[in-house]
Amino acid sequence: MRRMTARPANAHQARLLRLLRDGGPHSRAQLGDQVELSRSKLAVEVERLLGTGLVVADGLAASRGGRRSHNIRLDPRLRFLGVDIGATSVDVAVTNAELEVLGHLNHPMDVREGPVAVFEQVLAMAAGLRTSGLAEGFDGAGIGVPGPVRFPEGVPVAPPIMPGWDGFPVREALSQELGCPVMVDNDVNLMALGERHAGVARSVGDFLCVKIGTGIGCGIVAGGEVHRGTTGSAGDIGHIRVEPDGRLCACGNRGCLEAHFSGAALARDAEEAARAGRSAELAGRLEAAGALTAADVAAAAAAGDPTALGLIREGGNRVGQVVAGLVSFFNPGLVVIGGGVTGLGHTLLASVRTQVYRQSLPLATGNLPIVLGELGHAAGVIGAARLISDHLFSPA
Ligand SMILES: [Zn+2]
Repeated sequence: MRRMTARPANAHQARLLRLLRDGGPHSRAQLGDQVELSRSKLAVEVERLLGTGLVVADGLAASRGGRRSHNIRLDPRLRFLGVDIGATSVDVAVTNAELEVLGHLNHPMDVREGPVAVFEQVLAMAAGLRTSGLAEGFDGAGIGVPGPVRFPEGVPVAPPIMPGWDGFPVREALSQELGCPVMVDNDVNLMALGERHAGVARSVGDFLCVKIGTGIGCGIVAGGEVHRGTTGSAGDIGHIRVEPDGRLCACGNRGCLEAHFSGAALARDAEEAARAGRSAELAGRLEAAGALTAADVAAAAAAGDPTALGLIREGGNRVGQVVAGLVSFFNPGLVVIGGGVTGLGHTLLASVRTQVYRQSLPLATGNLPIVLGELGHAAGVIGAARLISDHLFSPA
């Protein structure tokens, strides 16, 4: 079939496309209520969009008096691919142009195997979604990787937990393989975009999204837009020092937040506690599985194990100290905690909240919800689809 080749010709068309993406089918009158265009100018832009094939007429709109007209919607055949590469697994999903997830696959995978092996897996998963009949092809793809990305070029730069990826032209390589436009971003930014589009941060313009997975990072949304910084490394809070002369971090420094608390650090601490005889619950799990993960700590905590609870509280305190500093600096309207460790749930959240409310000034925290993300594994892939659609629904 024909794939999306047209882009909006001007800012009005871009705005109309985004309204249709975020709100579904609209009548012309409803569109007119939301854009500052005269009726005749709106009619011209809608006709031009119909001409590109990006939007189609669909069903009769409710009458507001006078002749009934058709609703306008994005072409229901448009498809976006969302890819969220984590340190230990990858999520691949296909969405329609309204960013509804039509199919979603998750596979375990080690990002340290390098870009060639990882992309082989991603392309196989994308092909699986295609052959299952959900998509004949893709009109665009968004990709998230667990490390800093030079945003315009879509190239990872010196990612500490991704050996072999430094400088790899992810955007260009995947664009060639998939035959569609591709945008690449840090996984944390995509989680923030996902929660803003369809999750707990809907309608919040200024918020922080802290992702605690194998590492830790923070998506910064200011004025409704992701703030990436000059070189794309804004929000890289995992390498803020929390302990002078602390543990050695993957980045080569000592005492970084993520060396002391992250999925990887938590698993290591739990194994140490199990071996030292401080927790029968964790020791039993270690013996059964040969290794522990953050999920084991969550399960042990849920069973009431005091050592596991202690590890989660201690980690939450460290994250909370860093977030307290960010709150004072940025004055967000919401803090979202997400990532693989959200299984640690309310124990973690309570420690983070305690630290933030204790350390930040009342004006900054008076009305500040600190909550868990709503979308789980889907946040990254929805954010990825949102990223590429924002790009494609911009004036060419
Ligand atoms: Zn570090």
